[in-house]
Amino acid sequence: MKLPYAEPFKIKMVEKIHRSTQEQREKWIKEAKYNLFNLKSQHVFIDLLTDSGTGAMSDKQWSAMMVGDESYAGATSFYIMKAAIKKILGFEHFLPTHQGRAAENVLFSATIKEGDVVPGNSHFDTTKGHIEFRKAKAIDCTIDEAFDTTINHPFKGNIDLDKLEKVLKKYPKEKIPMIIVTITCNSSGGQPVSVQNMKDIRQLADKYEVPIFYDSARFAENAYFIKLREEAYKNMTIKEIVHEMFKYADGMTMSSKKDAIVNMGGFIAMRSKELYKKASTFNIIYEGYVTYGGMSGRDMNALAQGLDEGTDFDYLEARIKQVQYLGEKCIANGIPIQQPIGGHAIFIDAKRFLPQIPKEEYIAQTVAIELYIVGGIRGVEIGTILADRDPETRENRYPDLELVRLAIPRRTYTNNHMDYVATVMKQIFDTRHEAKKGLRILSEAPIMRHFTVELDKL
Ligand SMILES: *Cc1c(COP(=O)(O)O)cnc(C)c1O
Repeated sequence: MKLPYAEPFKIKMVEKIHRSTQEQREKWIKEAKYNLFNLKSQHVFIDLLTDSGTGAMSDKQWSAMMVGDESYAGATSFYIMKAAIKKILGFEHFLPTHQGRAAENVLFSATIKEGDVVPGNSHFDTTKGHIEFRKAKAIDCTIDEAFDTTINHPFKGNIDLDKLEKVLKKYPKEKIPMIIVTITCNSSGGQPVSVQNMKDIRQLADKYEVPIFYDSARFAENAYFIKLREEAYKNMTIKEIVHEMFKYADGMTMSSKKDAIVNMGGFIAMRSKELYKKASTFNIIYEGYVTYGGMSGRDMNALAQGLDEGTDFDYLEARIKQVQYLGEKCIANGIPIQQPIGGHAIFIDAKRFLPQIPKEEYIAQTVAIELYIVGGIRGVEIGTILADRDPETRENRYPDLELVRLAIPRRTYTNNHMDYVATVMKQIFDTRHEAKKGLRILSEAPIMRHFTVELDKL
């Protein structure tokens, strides 16, 4: 008999979450100016805003925290983290930072200047923000299949080699400080990049003498998909695949709040000692001394343990199976979601969900607000609001995809919570024709407006 699947962990500590009524939520979201970031967390029942820093640490991580070394310089915790990075990711040098965007800030301060171009696969919003803030340009070279949510491609995070080569040909190498490969590709739906693609990118990068950095927040989830979908790697362990992936990179930035399963932390790792030295100066200015860079010793300990747990097959299987569980329920209910289902989140295709709402009325945000009002579920818009205005023309950028992301925190919710989310979604979907109007912007910040934008219902 084939035994049913069950999670390879049990729960040692629980946290109360808060129910509310639809009436209460209508009031709270109006007060929050229809921006889900403005809500108090007690006013949210199931929080799928992000999987960043929201995971549950293990007993081993918590015990590692107790033996953290808080010395300013040369802490044992730094060396524990250094050893974990060398062992799991293969990089000789690293700098701790307080989170992923801080790693970007430090690395880009050392490498990117005005007028540069940075090709990649749908750069993450903070990555793009840090590039554009330096008056450089992020050029999206993701394969076209990524922008059609109905196409079932195994590696929708892949870079289109022709698009990439065009960029590498067009600009001199002095203007291309790096190629950024985001694994998994967050902005195109938590979609993986294949090892084959990484090898091909390496070849092009070598030909044009441009370094490659991986934006690695979900590198372990990427490795899991490689094991399942890329024939040549099916018999390798996750840790072996991770090694194989990083062989083709010169360095990486990491938001440890994702696949290292900690609540706060990040780092940069690289092979070049010269770059390490250059970046160290910026790390000291922005983050802290090179052996702690914005992290407590205890947090570095938990991070090192998290890198090990996060690259364990059984953990990853439970993690990704839960995301698939919710995704398959959505598909069964006819709800248009990005397919194949990504590693960390479900992405609702809002244009297909509410085709009657024009793009000028923020379709994905409209769906996200409904999810909150009806079920107390907090997702996030990955659409026009996030895409922001063009830095030159100041016009709204309308991305091909208008998505609502429901990110699942690691080891945090049960499948009963997933059932609840699926039921709420079905209810909204079944009454979608009643939606007549979307939203309008009342005020916004000049950059990364989605965090603070104020909206009103039309
Ligand atoms: C989260 C994330 C970042 C930024 O990291 P923070 O820890 O949130 O600052 C960068 N890139 C990707 C792909 C991410 O998912």
